[in-house]
Amino acid sequence: MTQRISHWMDGRKTPGTSGRTSPVYNPATGQRSADVELASAGEVDVAVAKAVVAAKDWRHASLSQRSGVLFAFRQLLHERTEQLAAIVTAEHGKVLSDAAGEIARGLENVEFAAAVPQLLKGGFSEQVSTGVDVYSIRQPLGVVAGITPFNFPVMVPLWMCAGAIACGNAFILKPSEKDPSASLFLAQMWKDAGLPDGVFTVVQGDKEAVGALLTHADVAAVSFVGSTPIARSIYETGTAQGKRVQALGGAKNHALVLADADVEMAADAVVSAAYGSAGERCMALSVAVAVGEVADRLVDALAARLPKLKVGDGTHPDTDIGPLITAEHRDKVAGYVGAGAEQGATLVVDGRLGDLPSGGFFLGTTLMDHVTPEMTVYTDEIFGPVLCVVRADSYEQGLALINDNPYANGTAIFTRDGGAARAFQFDVEVGMVGINVPVPVPVAYYSFGGWKASLFGDSHMYGAEGMNFYTRGKVVTSRWPDPATSAVDLGFPRTR
Ligand code: NAD
Repeated sequence: MTQRISHWMDGRKTPGTSGRTSPVYNPATGQRSADVELASAGEVDVAVAKAVVAAKDWRHASLSQRSGVLFAFRQLLHERTEQLAAIVTAEHGKVLSDAAGEIARGLENVEFAAAVPQLLKGGFSEQVSTGVDVYSIRQPLGVVAGITPFNFPVMVPLWMCAGAIACGNAFILKPSEKDPSASLFLAQMWKDAGLPDGVFTVVQGDKEAVGALLTHADVAAVSFVGSTPIARSIYETGTAQGKRVQALGGAKNHALVLADADVEMAADAVVSAAYGSAGERCMALSVAVAVGEVADRLVDALAARLPKLKVGDGTHPDTDIGPLITAEHRDKVAGYVGAGAEQGATLVVDGRLGDLPSGGFFLGTTLMDHVTPEMTVYTDEIFGPVLCVVRADSYEQGLALINDNPYANGTAIFTRDGGAARAFQFDVEVGMVGINVPVPVPVAYYSFGGWKASLFGDSHMYGAEGMNFYTRGKVVTSRWPDPATSAVDLGFPRTR
């Protein structure tokens, strides 16, 4: 019988009752490895009711108790990285070192959140009026939910749950149904770290579970990471229900390569950022904008690197690029390559050709030159191992191209000119910017988020903005009774 991947409630695996499941594959073999339960709205109700009870207790846990759980979790995550990376690779397909990399970046969020006693310090003002003090505190929201994409089954849940739990909330994770096993491994680790049962819940599911979480009266906030159409709809539905929502969407990240750039270094960086994780990263560089005469040299340098990249099973140590997540997605990406060629792009390297391993959802690396902004390979997020080169006459033209794009997650400039880099940082309308850094994912003590169609809501994820998102402020004005000054006063309170 095919293995069943269940929910996690009250500190244990909980079989589903909906009767609905979705197949989970090993993308490197193409074999179905398990079926994941898909929760009904009724099962979501049960999960939320349990989380409500857990949240009531957890908000009473002292800051040092919460911090202690995060320290313990951090240690376990460190010790169990290899096991967890193997789970990620088996369902996502990315190479083991890349899976370990996402775990390491998630771990940084746990370390940040472990400083919750410092992070939740409020303000205090003594003597705002005679004998009157004012202080601010931040309190948890209650039950919060996180809905996460397939491409980072560990890091993105940790972006959310580390801060949410540290702030005293109960957290319900709805992971991607394409690679759900990591969520249960995280749940077991929270339990082993001493987190009380019910504070971390996993509801497996699809849009039915998401809809139930979004409309549930007892879910106070929703964090979402995924594609733009779903992010927009999550934001609209959740906020219409009065919830706090942060919804991060898709991306089309540009590298701007100026004529003075070190072309070999830029090519190394762009190839790493375009094809790492088979291009299934929201911070992947999928467009290289080559300014002026650098274009031919850049295309040659990019093309020279591609034959050296080995496509294969992510568990093999010499593999650079694993398979795509599903056969449908592989075919969709290959379809974009065909469309690009038909629409007039030059296929410098065609990833559909050549020797690819059989069985899994593999696609080779594609490099397209002379791409123009009307082509679908440019307008759409492809989310695969495809790099488009657009040629621009000037820095200004390249900048305008980036600023005209509806997505605005990440970007990177490659140059030796500090003035140009400073101007780019100032003028570019994108949320995360790299200067000679190809994948500028902010460290855990900053916050992650794009602009425009890459983020719906006001709040970026993790870091200080994450702590604010998972708490609400309260301001207390206090005076201790002094019989000598007590009198009826119907005037509006003044401070002087
Ligand atoms: P997706 O939007 O298909 O799914 C994301 C989540 O939403 C999953 O949990 C899924 O079950 C759920 N979902 C899917 N369809 C839904 C629907 N109709 N109604 C309600 N919920 C639904 O995204 P994906 O394919 O899993 O992930 C890839 C996408 O995520 C890419 O667009 C990528 O750019 C984006 N992404 C963005 C960031 C970021 O930080 N901005 C990070 C990682 C991934």
